[in-house]
Amino acid sequence: MSDQHIYEYLCIGCPLGCHLLVDDTEGDTEGVKVTGWGCKTGKAYGEQEHKDPRRNMATSVRVKGARWGRVPVKTTGTVPKKLVRDVARAVQDIEIEAPIKLGTVVLANVLGTGVDIVATRDMERL
Ligand code: SF4
Repeated sequence: MSDQHIYEYLCIGCPLGCHLLVDDTEGDTEGVKVTGWGCKTGKAYGEQEHKDPRRNMATSVRVKGARWGRVPVKTTGTVPKKLVRDVARAVQDIEIEAPIKLGTVVLANVLGTGVDIVATRDMERL
């Protein structure tokens, strides 16, 4: 078991990229101490990134019957970082048929995360 208690993260909340240090010396991930932040967004990000790192995702899926062969999609919220590859795999074989409306749910509750995959643009049928 590692005795490391100080973890480094780079805040991605804005271009300043503050260097965050998260101290979980107490061994209680609910009570980590974050330093190095320039605003409260960074403090919250450090806590979240240490306890439960999550990511928004954007990709595309195949479309039949439209001018373009793929439509861009995104997650409606963040998914656990450890599931990002699995979510990408779950989406890669999807094919939907035009017409498509902005916000159309392409895949509901992906991998039981409570997050949907939705289209991010309209696409007419040819
Ligand atoms: S802590 Fe605040 S100021 Fe620093 S990078 Fe994050 S969002 Fe920007």
